Amino acid sequence: MLPSRASVVVAGGGPAGYMAAIAAAEAGATDLWILEATSEPLHKVRISGGGRCNVTHACWDPRDLVGHYPRGGQALRGPFGRFAPGDAVAWFDAHGLQLVEEADGRLFPRSNRSSSVVDTLRAAAVTAGVRCLEGQALQAAEPLPGGGFRLLLRGGASLQADRLVLATGSHPSGLRIASALGHGLVPPVPSLFTLALGSHPLTALAGVVVDPVVLELEGPAEAMARPAGVSPLPAAAVGAAPRRRQRHRQRGPLLITHWGFSGPAILRLTAFAARDLRAWGYRASLRIDWTGGSLSPADLEERFASARRELARRQLGAARPWPSLGRRLWSHLLEARGIDPGLRWADLGRGDQRRLQEALRQDIYAIRGRGPFGEEFVTAGGVPLGEVNLATMESRRRPGLFLVGELLDVDGVTGGFNFQHCWSSGWLAGQQLAAAVLT
Ligand SMILES: Cc1cc2nc3c(=O)[nH]c(=O)nc-3n(C[C@H](O)[C@H](O)[C@H](O)COP(=O)(O)OP(=O)(O)OC[C@H]3O[C@@H](n4cnc5c(N)ncnc54)[C@H](O)[C@@H]3O)c2cc1C
Repeated sequence: MLPSRASVVVAGGGPAGYMAAIAAAEAGATDLWILEATSEPLHKVRISGGGRCNVTHACWDPRDLVGHYPRGGQALRGPFGRFAPGDAVAWFDAHGLQLVEEADGRLFPRSNRSSSVVDTLRAAAVTAGVRCLEGQALQAAEPLPGGGFRLLLRGGASLQADRLVLATGSHPSGLRIASALGHGLVPPVPSLFTLALGSHPLTALAGVVVDPVVLELEGPAEAMARPAGVSPLPAAAVGAAPRRRQRHRQRGPLLITHWGFSGPAILRLTAFAARDLRAWGYRASLRIDWTGGSLSPADLEERFASARRELARRQLGAARPWPSLGRRLWSHLLEARGIDPGLRWADLGRGDQRRLQEALRQDIYAIRGRGPFGEEFVTAGGVPLGEVNLATMESRRRPGLFLVGELLDVDGVTGGFNFQHCWSSGWLAGQQLAAAVLT
C-alpha cells in the first residue's frame, strides 16, 4: 500500500536504486520505499552479462578504474575511493553472494546466474526493511516550500517524501523530472555498440577473432567540411558538430561478424567515440593494424624478406609470412589486393609486397553504420556530474534530491564497470541519506 508520507523514496528499482535504499537502511535509515514503474525490478541485472551478470571488475585501484569510464573519468576518483570494486566484492560476500574472477578480470556470481544477484539484492532489501512497490511510476516531483517533495505517480496517486532518490537509469521520465527540478541534461546517445560494414567481402570471415589489433577511427571527410554547429541530426540531440578531426584509438581483440566488427576492442572504441560517431551519423573510416602494432614498417619488410628467402618456392596462399597470422585473414588480404594466391613467394614483386604490407598495417574500412549492440548496452549522457556532490550524490541544485546510476552522465566500457558505478553511487547516497535521517 502506498503511504501518504515517507522519509525516503527511491524512484527506480534497478541496481543503483536498490543499493541506495539497502545501504541507507543498513546505516540506520527507516521508512524507505522503492517505487518501480514495471512489474520486474532489477530487470537489467537479470538480463545482464548474457544471463550471468558481470557484477564488477577486478580493477582495485580507483586511479586505474576511472580509465574505463569514457564519461565520468577522473571525476569518479572520489566516489570510487570510497566504494571501489573490492568493497562491492566484500558487500556481496557479506550478503551471501560470492563473486568469482575470470581470467580477463570480470567478476561473476559463483552460480554463473544473474538471478543470484537479483535474489541477493531483493533479500537484502527485505531484511533491511526496504519496501518495494511495483507498477508505480513517478511522473513528477514538486519541491515543497519547507523542504521535501510532493510526488505524483502515474495513475493519479501522490505522496510526500522528505528525500527523493532518482535512480531511473536512462529512462526519459527520470531525465525529465531531474530537468524540471533544475538540472541540466547532457543529451543521451547510445554507447557500447558494434560497427556495420554493409555488404563487404570481409564479412565472409564471420567468427574470426584477431587478437590483438590496433584500431584507429576517424570521421568521414564530409563531417569535417560541415560548418561547426550544423549537423544532419537535430542539434539538441547531438550537441555541436565536432570542430576538428577527431581520431580514436584502441588495441585489443577484434571479432569479425556477418555484419562487420565486434569484440572488446570495438566495444571500447565505440564507447569512447560514442558522441563523435553520433555526430558523424555513424559513418567513419576504420584503420586496422592486423599486426597488433607489434611490427614497424621496417620489421614487416624484414618479415617479407625472410619469407621470400625461406618460403621462396611455396605459394603465397599456402604459406603465410608468419605462422600466427590467421589463414583466412591472409587469404582475404591477398584476394582484396588482387594478388594471385598461386604466386610463389620468390616471384612477389616490390609493388605487391608494399601493397600487402600496407594491408597488414593500415587496412582501411568504410563504416556504414551501427551494428547490433554487444551483450551490454548503455546510454551516454544524463545529468552532468558537476551538478552533484560526488561525496554524497546529493544534488547541488536541489537539497534533498539524490541522483545515482545511469541517470548521471557516466558510462563505462564493457566488463562490469557500469554496475560498479551503480554500486558506488548507490552506496554513497545511502550513507548520506542515513546520516541526514538520523540527524
Ligand atoms: C542487455 C544488457 C546487459 C548488460 N550487462 C551488463 C553487465 O554484465 N555488467 C555491467 O556492468 N553492466 C551491464 N549492463 C549495463 C547495466 O545494466 C546498466 O548500466 C545498469 O542497469 C544501470 O542501472 P540503473 O539502476 O542506473 O538503471 P536501470 O537498471 O535502468 O534501472 C532503472 C529502473 O528504474 C525504473 N524506472 C524508470 N523510470 C521510472 C519512473 N519514472 N518511476 C519508477 N521507476 C522507473 C526502470 O523500470 C528500471 O527498473 C547491461 C545492460 C544491458 C541492456
